[in-house]
Formats: sequence, structure tokens, C-alpha cells
Amino acid sequence: MQYPSAASQYEDFLRAVFPPSNGETGAGALREDAGPRAAEPVPELEVQARWFAGEFGRDFVGRDGEAVEIVQFGHWNRSAGPDFTEAVVKIDGVVRRGAIEVDLTATDWEAHGHGANPDYDEVVLHVHCDGRQAAAPRFFTRTSRHQAVAQLPIDLAASDEPAGHWGHLPVARRGRCATPLREMGEAALESLMTAAAQYRLRRKARRHEVLAATHSDGQALLQGTAEALGYRHNKLTMAVLAQRLSLATLKRQAAPEREALLFGVAGFLDPERFENTADPEARHYLKSLWDHWWKHRAQHEPEAPHRRLPWRMAGTRPVNHPQRRVAALAALVNDWPAYARLVGARPTESPEGWTRDLTAYLGQLKHAYWSRHYTLKANPAPKPLALIGKDRIQDLLGNVLFPAAISSRPNLWAAYRLLPGSDMNESLKRAALRLFGPDSARIAAATRRYWQQQALLQIYRDFCLRDGSDCADCPFPEQLAQWREG
Ligand code: SF4
Repeated sequence: MQYPSAASQYEDFLRAVFPPSNGETGAGALREDAGPRAAEPVPELEVQARWFAGEFGRDFVGRDGEAVEIVQFGHWNRSAGPDFTEAVVKIDGVVRRGAIEVDLTATDWEAHGHGANPDYDEVVLHVHCDGRQAAAPRFFTRTSRHQAVAQLPIDLAASDEPAGHWGHLPVARRGRCATPLREMGEAALESLMTAAAQYRLRRKARRHEVLAATHSDGQALLQGTAEALGYRHNKLTMAVLAQRLSLATLKRQAAPEREALLFGVAGFLDPERFENTADPEARHYLKSLWDHWWKHRAQHEPEAPHRRLPWRMAGTRPVNHPQRRVAALAALVNDWPAYARLVGARPTESPEGWTRDLTAYLGQLKHAYWSRHYTLKANPAPKPLALIGKDRIQDLLGNVLFPAAISSRPNLWAAYRLLPGSDMNESLKRAALRLFGPDSARIAAATRRYWQQQALLQIYRDFCLRDGSDCADCPFPEQLAQWREG
């Protein structure tokens, strides 16, 4: 089926199963289906990053019914004080310039001492996540000068991929829908999976479009690329790195400066690291980074400790070390015109040519240091290392580049269908087991391609993660009959 007509079919299916409540029409790009909700607090940094990416929108109704429009999201603050500076907002049509503070709850304002701190006097908007708690006790945001600050409660579930940890993890065993799915027939199953996969791809495409509209096409590509390179443990941190060092900022610099900026803002250029590095090649490379970083340090280094980027190293294989991911991002930024041209290319011969060219381009990227080293301190590796490995290329294509391109080139759907499946992660294994039972041949056939894996993950998200009854009350098995008839 042509993209995106099957996506609309799946959307209709979801709407029939879960009718919108409270008059919500699902008209907003990312609000079409809020999906399951996180039951545990989400990291504040994640909310801030999603806010800055425009994922919650830019036109709102404030806590007191005022119309709030975000004209400019401002800049990440690297010092103490509010999260975003130099922002511009319109409140009931009146332009206000100043800072924006993003907290998890309204009362964090006082709990964190902002109300008595003059650094927060310039705040013009206090964003918090009490969006679904209209009955929560009223809290007033006031500066140290006793001036009221407009509050904007946002709804975390309005974001495309609700953050945080789910309240429950569906049990890893065959689900109640496995039998009707088996009886469904291959053609009906294929059409359901196609629709779910297209729907997921369209959601990702819309997320990309929102980011592009909030900042720019290039910035959306940079952030998406950084996120994909950060998989699995450092997606958020890589995304924030790309937000703090925007494409526009990086483009203004020469190539060596860009690389030094990325490593410096990432927090990988501390003097101690240099002192403790024995390998001559590593010392030479570190010195070359430092030679540029010192010029930018005062302007870009996070000053306040809580502004430092939180990298997760534990459980990461040496070849996936976050420093290597920053290096890969630097290599792409340094070759940006070629990368952006390939992403924006219109396939002339066949849609598959687009995938082939990008795969070949990403696979051939090299770096004098990083093609032979695991970290900034490591001795040389015995064999050359791919700067961007096969899995990352696959994920970049499926999660970022196809979503970035598909809206303007829907014929790429044919090429998307040919992408091979990636390694089965825990969610995918669980989804396959629940929907198909412990039938390894069937699971293998249903997860061979990337689009099939995406379909399973979408159904898992829409039904298994919503379900709290161990399948008993899940409407999916009964609704499958509707799909057959449809
Ligand atoms: S929760 Fe629903 S979709 Fe998930 S396994 Fe159970 S019946 Fe199937």
C-alpha cells in the first residue's frame, strides 16, 4: 500500500478502539495519540530537551487561561539560573523577552529556591509538568521582587514518545491476541503490520517536521543524527549536545574548531584526562583538541555543575563509547554539505539507490584518530574500527533519515520496506513473544525486515503498554476481527 494511506487506516483503527476523550480531536501533529503514560518521574533534562525541540508545541493556554505563544525558545543556559535565556514569548498578545524555566512540578520553583534567587527575576514563563493535574493545589510563581510569573502546565503524554519508565512491564509470555493473529491469514496480517509500520514512520516524520519548524531543517537533522548515534544509553545526552551546539554555531567554525567544541561541550576535555594520558598518539590528538578548545572554553563550557552533560559509560561496549559517538557526529558535521545533500537527494533511478548511497557514505567515514582508538586515552586498537558501525547506520536510516525524507518523497516507502531488521532488543523480543507466542520460525519471519519490527513495536506500545490486566481487558484480540472485515 502507498505511503501514508495505510498509516491513516491504522490511525482510524486506534481511534475506533480508543475514542478521544474530553473533546480532543487529535489534530496536533504530536497529539494525535497520547498513548500510554509514564508512571514514574521523568528526568528533568529530558523534559527540557523535548521542550526545546518544540515537541509540546509552541501555542498553549497558560495556567490562568492566557494565550501563550513561544516566539523564540531562546538558548540553553550553561550557568546557574533559568534553563533557557534570551527567549521571546507572547502572553495574551504582549511580547515578553526574558528567560524560561522548565521544572517537573510547579512547586519545584520554591523547592529549588528560585523564588528568593534574583538570578530568576528575568523569568517570563515557568513551564512545568502538572498538565494533567488540574485539581492540584494552586501554586503561584513569584520572583524575588514579588512579581508573578506566568505558568504553563504541559502534558508529558503529548510528546511523541512519552518519557520515563513505564509503570509496568508486560509479562514476557504469549498474549491473548496470539491465537486470533495466527488465525488471521497472511494477507490480513501483512496489511495490519504495514499499517502499523507506516503509522510509526509517520509519527517519526512529524516529530522531525516539528523540530524543523521550531529550529531549522538542518538542526532537525543534526539533533536526529546525534540522538541515533547516542543509542542506546546516551540518546538524550547526544540530543542535548546537538541543541547546545547548534548546527548554525558549528558551521561558523573551521573543522578543527568544531571537533574541539563538540568534545569540549561534551565535557571530555578536562585537564586531568590530558595529564593521565600516556599513549603518544592520544596525547597528540588531545593536545590538538585543546589548542582549539581553550579559545572557546569561556564561552561554551558549562559553568554550573548541574549543566554538565550526564554520560552513561557503564554497560557500553568499547566500540560504542560515547566519545566515539561524538567523534562520528564531528565527522558528519565536518562533511555536512555532502551528508545533507545525500539525505535531500531525490532518487532518480530507484528508491533503493537512495538507501544504498547513504549506507555507502556513512560506512566509509573515517577519522585519523578514531578509526584506530576506542577512547581519548586508549592505546591504538589492533584493527581499524568503523567510525559508524552497521547497526548505527541501520538505525540512522530507519529512525532519522527515512522519517526526514519520507514526507516529501513518499516513494521511499518501497526502499524502507527493504531495510533489513536490526538486532532484537528487549522490547522487540517481548513484543514478538506476546503477539506470536514461542514460535521461533514465525517470529523470525515476522521480524526479518525493519518495517516489521517497527510494526510490532507500535502495536506493543499501543496495546501492551496500555494494558494493566495481563491481556484480560485488552481490546486488541476482539478488534482484530474488525480489521479482517475492514
Ligand atoms: S496486551 Fe493486548 S496486544 Fe498485548 S499481548 Fe495482550 S492481548 Fe495482545
